[in-house]
Amino acid sequence: MSWFKRDKPSDQKLPNLSDADRRVRTEGLWQKCESCRQIVWKKELEANWNVCAKCGAHSRLDAVSRLKLLLDGGEYETFDHDLRSSDPLGFVDNKPYRERLVSMEKATHLPEALIAAAGRIEGRPVEICAHEPRFIGGSLGSVVGEKIARSIERAIARRRPLVIVSASGGARMQEGAISLMQMAKIAAGLMRLDEAKLPFISVLTDPTTGGVTASYAMLGDLNIAEPGALIGFAGPRVIEQTIRQKLPEGFQRSEFLLKHGMLDAVVPRLELKPFISQALGFFMG
Ligand SMILES: [Zn+2]
Repeated sequence: MSWFKRDKPSDQKLPNLSDADRRVRTEGLWQKCESCRQIVWKKELEANWNVCAKCGAHSRLDAVSRLKLLLDGGEYETFDHDLRSSDPLGFVDNKPYRERLVSMEKATHLPEALIAAAGRIEGRPVEICAHEPRFIGGSLGSVVGEKIARSIERAIARRRPLVIVSASGGARMQEGAISLMQMAKIAAGLMRLDEAKLPFISVLTDPTTGGVTASYAMLGDLNIAEPGALIGFAGPRVIEQTIRQKLPEGFQRSEFLLKHGMLDAVVPRLELKPFISQALGFFMG
């Protein structure tokens, strides 16, 4: 399984674009919705937090926008921001992991695939983590794991609820078993959070797969997902080959998982904040 999802070769063509000048002027201003295939104005899409106004499809949202959307006034304090992977295995695939980290940082302006922060949701203080899906697929490596573990520690020390917004391809293969160990470390931390009687709300967004689904993303007191999000462990092709059966329509999408008891709710992006606030009110009294 590749953590680097390349976009399919674009077949996007703007209407009536015969002259090159016009193509240059309009390039980047418009985007084709992956779901309804209609052309949408990029600015309008961004203003709507990447939810298509025409069909309601939720495209991926970066970690900074996610925190701005959920936290009061878009304000938050970050923690452990400068933690960086030490490349413990000296891993090289088609390029050295170290180089990959540098290029990812350049592309996303973030040193790792997760922001750990604190802020308020409708007045309630929370510790919150958001995966950055563009940083090596939002994958769970040693730094992401450590940032989450420290967020849990802070939540316990400050008697605050924890929210994690997942958008991740799973464990980071470039850190091998050290990535996998993060699953156990975080799960153990969440048990301590539970013993401290503090809630953990897991928000699963597109995509939440592999080791992230297999650990904390499914360990929330509430597991809520955005509409249409891909959520699963292994990919559908691997499952079909293993069980030698055709998978049903919509398999591994939020709505299917809700119907089969794997999720507590499917909540549209723009309603997430009031929903989480209400849940926190219920949990925290
Ligand atoms: Zn659309």
